[in-house]
Amino acid sequence: VSPLHGHAGPRAKFERAVAANRLGHAYLLLGPDGIGKKRFAVEMAKALLCEGSPVGLMACGRCASCPLVDAGTHPDLSQAGKPEDKSELPIKVVRDLTSTLGLSPTRGRRRIAILDDLDWINEEAANAFLKSLEEPAPGTILFLIGTAADRQLPTILSRCQIVRFDRLTDDDVAKVLLDHGQKATEIDRLVRLADGSPGQALALADPAIGEFRAAMFALMAAVPFRRSALIESWLRFIEGAGKEAPAQRTRARLLLGQAMAGLRSAVRVAVGSERGDVADAATLARYGPDALLQALEAHRQADDRIDRRVPVPVSLEAMVDRLGRCFASPAA
Ligand SMILES: [Zn+2]
Repeated sequence: VSPLHGHAGPRAKFERAVAANRLGHAYLLLGPDGIGKKRFAVEMAKALLCEGSPVGLMACGRCASCPLVDAGTHPDLSQAGKPEDKSELPIKVVRDLTSTLGLSPTRGRRRIAILDDLDWINEEAANAFLKSLEEPAPGTILFLIGTAADRQLPTILSRCQIVRFDRLTDDDVAKVLLDHGQKATEIDRLVRLADGSPGQALALADPAIGEFRAAMFALMAAVPFRRSALIESWLRFIEGAGKEAPAQRTRARLLLGQAMAGLRSAVRVAVGSERGDVADAATLARYGPDALLQALEAHRQADDRIDRRVPVPVSLEAMVDRLGRCFASPAA
């Protein structure tokens, strides 16, 4: 198992809590997607459950407990999240997970549960585990994982210790990519596209995705704007992910993220705060900041719709229509 890179702040916070014997019962880990929050929670759990002699929060890796955590079969560690095909975190998933916290530990002194996708919990499901938050069984720890604080329910925010995670530095993203066996020649390019998210970088390593990315920027910059070519290209690309809606959504959102990063960079070039080093940004910058900001908003809205389970093709067609209006003609 490869080491955990980055996130020195959260790590230090947990190390201080363990050293002072003041570990809390419920932590809410917040930060962007794909930066390793769940991986971090599993590593903390591994160290806390380690039966060897962990050094601070580094699990020994050799005791009877550590391999069970790595294999996802440790009896005192439960993990759950939103199933891919569901639009919310089901109450049953939450109940099943929190009920494990009420059991006595099988091996040691603790029970740990990790609940991902907290952005997708509704009031009813949240109520199902407020009791675990308010009257935790001794020795239990709950790690909750979400993205932004404004997407969390106040009832949960007020009962957890919040731990914020930032995007990784380029150096740390590169280390994660090396650990995942990425070719050294590819790493620089992927790190530049990753925006501090190794999850995003690994997804972008797929050659089909790199090809579409180039085609997408070329079509966005084409004069006159070619609405049907852009939408057809998007739809073919999405279908390349297979027939399953979750896979199509993941693919669409990955590329919408890339488009938004390109547009933000083009805005900076257009207002003169960045040199046009990136070819995509320099060409798009001709449309001027107002049109680019509207185009950015069109992508953000499509991303939001897809996130909320509006069908991918519908969301993308609305976006391209709006782009047609933003990019009707270059400003200069
Ligand atoms: Zn161990």
